[in-house]
Amino acid sequence: MGLIVDVFAARSDNFGYLVHDEASGRTAAVDAPEAAAIRNALLQRGWTLTDIFITHHHIDHVEAIAELKAEYGARVTGPRAEADKIDGLDDLVGDGDTVELGESRFAVMATPGHTLGHVVFYDAAGGHLFSADALFSLGVGRMFEGTPGPMWAGLKRLRDLPDETLVYCGHEYTQSNARFALSIDPDNPALRARAAEVDALRAAGRPTIPFTLGEDKRANPFLRADAPELARVYGLEGADPSAVFAAIRKGKDNF
Ligand SMILES: [Zn+2]
Repeated sequence: MGLIVDVFAARSDNFGYLVHDEASGRTAAVDAPEAAAIRNALLQRGWTLTDIFITHHHIDHVEAIAELKAEYGARVTGPRAEADKIDGLDDLVGDGDTVELGESRFAVMATPGHTLGHVVFYDAAGGHLFSADALFSLGVGRMFEGTPGPMWAGLKRLRDLPDETLVYCGHEYTQSNARFALSIDPDNPALRARAAEVDALRAAGRPTIPFTLGEDKRANPFLRADAPELARVYGLEGADPSAVFAAIRKGKDNF
């Protein structure tokens, strides 16, 4: 008995996720991007929605909360730090808390930066990380609310998770992330291999999600802000890695 993850497209470039605890039959949506897409995924699987786990307050992650709650009576868990920005939260959580779904357990980890209260959900037993807009394949979310230091610190904690962790992020941004990453780290063999794989997947109309964290640790420049070769790109040799991280983030914003 374990956890089954269902991945589907929602809105224009969001991913929707259902997580199903086999032992109890409980099913959670990770974020609520679009009611119709989530309803359709539930019907295809024959599951009933019991829970919704929210990562942050952006509209493309919360818009379907009210509709799904009315339809299924699902219980909604979300970040305490953004409770004033999200309607319909029943349970408030923060860094270090554990969320239960039947026999499955999700550790809540704070990942500030994209939004200040952004959290991710990590299933250690199954090796699944639901990273929403904190960590993408070959990229990270745009820094809308935070500052580079805490954002880098949060990402470093994600980087400490096991290499075999499967990461499920909020958007299909991988191909454009790869283009930027190659512009600053062109000789990185792990990055070149992943970029080629991504091009093949996208050409075949397939998603690039989930991805393995170990591969991303070697290929994602944002997870390599403490690598000397990336400091060198920005003339920041010897600087604090958070300064290099800030430079990479700014470089991507202007790419
Ligand atoms: Zn967002």
